[in-house]
Amino acid sequence: MYLYNSATHKKEEFRTHTPGHVEMYTCGPTVYHFAHIGNLRSYIMEDVLEKYLRYTGYDVNRVMNITDVGHLSSDADTGEDKMVKGAKREHKSVLEIAQYYTDAFFEDCRKLNIKRPDVVQPATGCIDEYIKIVSALLEKGYAYSAGGNVYFDSSKLSRYYVFNDHDEEDLAVGVREGVEEDTNKRNKNDFVLWFTKSKFEDQALKWDSPWGVGYPGWHIECSGISMKYNGEYLDLHCGGVDNAFPHHTNEIAQSESYLGHPWCAQWFHVHHLNTSGGKMSKSKGEFLTVSLLEEKGYDPLAYRYFCLQSHYRKALVFSYENLDNAVAAYQKLISRIAALVPGDGEVDTAVFEAYRTKFNQQMGNDLNTSMGVTSIFDVLKAQTNDATKLALIGDFDAVLSLGLLEKAAAKRTAEKTPAKTTGGYTVTGEGDSAIDALVFQRYEAKKAKNFGEADRIREELRAQGIEITDTKDGASWARA
Ligand SMILES: [Zn+2]
Repeated sequence: MYLYNSATHKKEEFRTHTPGHVEMYTCGPTVYHFAHIGNLRSYIMEDVLEKYLRYTGYDVNRVMNITDVGHLSSDADTGEDKMVKGAKREHKSVLEIAQYYTDAFFEDCRKLNIKRPDVVQPATGCIDEYIKIVSALLEKGYAYSAGGNVYFDSSKLSRYYVFNDHDEEDLAVGVREGVEEDTNKRNKNDFVLWFTKSKFEDQALKWDSPWGVGYPGWHIECSGISMKYNGEYLDLHCGGVDNAFPHHTNEIAQSESYLGHPWCAQWFHVHHLNTSGGKMSKSKGEFLTVSLLEEKGYDPLAYRYFCLQSHYRKALVFSYENLDNAVAAYQKLISRIAALVPGDGEVDTAVFEAYRTKFNQQMGNDLNTSMGVTSIFDVLKAQTNDATKLALIGDFDAVLSLGLLEKAAAKRTAEKTPAKTTGGYTVTGEGDSAIDALVFQRYEAKKAKNFGEADRIREELRAQGIEITDTKDGASWARA
């Protein structure tokens, strides 16, 4: 596979420290609020990357942190603590907020067919790791104490800016958002490794350390967690492009100074999801979440399809019009797959291998997901039987995860049974009026904005092996 490496600024052949095995790390969410769909774009593309690596035969160990401490409003360690801010907003404890939004994040991931990483580690669970690294950095002369905090001394490095091909805009984000100057810092790029309570009296979570009671900086958690679960040599580090500076830059600085050798070989950065007003954020414009899209009647997998249609290294513009276009294309694709007849002939191995090779080449060319999606349309047009087409689509969807075969199967079943329409809402299913009634109840709950009840009904049906798919004028259901 060829993958663009932000650290070397070029497309390179993907290699790993141990042949056949990938140690992969992903910066996880800061769990003080819901993730917006721009954050989730990164997780979708990283999920495709992980699945593609597995598809090509790699054994992958993927690790993700959950930031539940230490992330301030500015990535450059200034401003209010995000978790404390979230807790105050909702009159809950920091731990309650962390648990609630961690669960919400993984629920969004489930809806988007994003696989859970092999290891998920909340930052508060690895304090000893950070203390070990910070102590060694102080001992080696890469860190200093000032005003009660411990800082990394960026002047000790011959090269600090690693990702200097990023926009000035990206480089400036952390600095620009800073609301105060930290006068303890010796150099502009120095960053906090360990805060003491001298900084935030109201910090809820704090631990004993050789430098006083306090808590870790945001950057140190990713180095600590990765070294604990991925080992000293990381093959692939992923994140959104706005993490490149200062977060990833600081991770490299502290990790390599601590280890005394190169740390991570390949860096994968997913670009922004923009709105017409600029970069998406939680604080300006409509707060776009997966739940909001669902409330508006969108299938979360149609959003995944929308993301896959564009390359991860290009900014993607979100608008409802663009999403509607993706929905139409996605539904058309499912209809065409539903028109194929399962069990029609034997899989033609030669055709299968030829198309698989082509798909592999597209995806192996810097994860070209839009060409990957096009490969499905090529299969639909191929001169071969339906069994081969369905086998190929299932094979590609192991990477793309668009739920294609499941949705096509549900559509086929639904088309065989008459629809029931109540108040303009049409339920199609397998001819079981009790289930139809529950699907209709879910619609009523959604209409009354009782989303908890709507989700409960969906779960109740799921427990019976029944999957609901929202359609243009209602819903269809099918037994898995
Ligand atoms: Zn990180």
